[in-house]
Amino acid sequence: MDVSNKSVLFVEDSPTMRRIIANSLRRLGFADIIEAENGIDALEKLEGNMVNLVVTDWNMPEMNGAELVKVLRSKPEFSMVPIVMITTRGMKDDVITAMKLGVNAYVIKPFTPEILKQKLDSVL
Ligand SMILES: [Mg+2]
Repeated sequence: MDVSNKSVLFVEDSPTMRRIIANSLRRLGFADIIEAENGIDALEKLEGNMVNLVVTDWNMPEMNGAELVKVLRSKPEFSMVPIVMITTRGMKDDVITAMKLGVNAYVIKPFTPEILKQKLDSVL
């Protein structure tokens, strides 16, 4: 799938993970990536912007990924945007909680580039 024309909001608090995952997204063809380090930062950077995809971590300071998903899903313009959560939280209850909040796909760290590609393909 050609994703070079799709914009993505990518939220991750760990600088190392942010670099790794942003590189993966670039390798998959995404050229327009808005990077943010937590939910608050993400909402500020989204101000006035629209994206085709949101990729977010769960555990983050200031505003975590679950809270960010709640806020995004409450906004009409973001109610349908695909959201992929990438997290170390691998318990079944976590997955269920995320899905109930409106997350479309769930990736558990550590993950392979193939898994990431599959999950992104499944929501785009
Ligand atoms: Mg984190």
